[in-house]
Amino acid sequence: MSVRRTILVTGASRGIGRAIASRLATDGDHVLVHGRAPSEALSSIASETGGRVLTFDVADREACRTALEGEIESHGAPYGVVLCAGLTADGPLVGMSDRDWDTVLDTNLGGFFNVLRPLVLPMIQRRAPGRIVVLSSIAGLVGNRGQVNYAASKAGLIGATKSLALELASRRITVNAVAPGLIATDMTSTMDPIAHDEIMKLIPMRRAGLPADVAHAVAFLLSDGASYITREVLTVGGGLGS
Ligand code: NDP
Repeated sequence: MSVRRTILVTGASRGIGRAIASRLATDGDHVLVHGRAPSEALSSIASETGGRVLTFDVADREACRTALEGEIESHGAPYGVVLCAGLTADGPLVGMSDRDWDTVLDTNLGGFFNVLRPLVLPMIQRRAPGRIVVLSSIAGLVGNRGQVNYAASKAGLIGATKSLALELASRRITVNAVAPGLIATDMTSTMDPIAHDEIMKLIPMRRAGLPADVAHAVAFLLSDGASYITREVLTVGGGLGS
């Protein structure tokens, strides 16, 4: 009988993270559903998946450390981690505030260190295979007008992912990134409509992706069959240039 895997999904209250949590639970995994703070949305995905709720701000290093050390002490290290929590604060560089730069970098890129630093050693100490999947973006590969801060954070995540993959390869823990294109979630519903239409024209499949499209790619990288795939970036963009 195979042991049920525990997988932490950050940013599981909405959008892509929610779809990933739902997909993993359907596949039989025990999901730790994470959000910034307790909310009805988080309770609803927890009850749908039968998962346990964890809340902390991924930009707050101390809060991450306290919550994750407590989690490991009570329940042990998870098999897998999906880093999905992220945000945007778009605008041209000439008008970008200090706050918009700092918040995006501290959350998207800082979150990588803040969440993985307390988790990686205990994952190694499980002496078993493991998985880490990081949500980057096609914007991190090719850039995007009005997203200097966001693209920098997502490009940084690719460098961090590839480096950590090298550090963990001999431990049988794979580390990969998924780089979605334009996916229909709250994040893109607030985009400038002109920018949205411009990107749409560049997508060969002529549609935005669905959160489930990304969840499928993440589930693949978490699967047993993907045990020899590490240090990769898998784009999910309907053919959008990468
Ligand atoms: P949403 O805005 O729909 O959801 C974002 C999630 O991240 C929410 O669960 C939110 O929690 C959480 N979150 C944001 N900031 C923090 C924080 N400081 N601490 C804890 N949790 C936080 O985004 P998407 O589902 O669209 O995006 C998910 C990931 O995919 C992001 O990393 C994004 O950059 C990436 N991505 C998305 C694309 C798209 O087109 N949608 C394209 C490429 C990449 P809360 O509900 O509490 O705010």
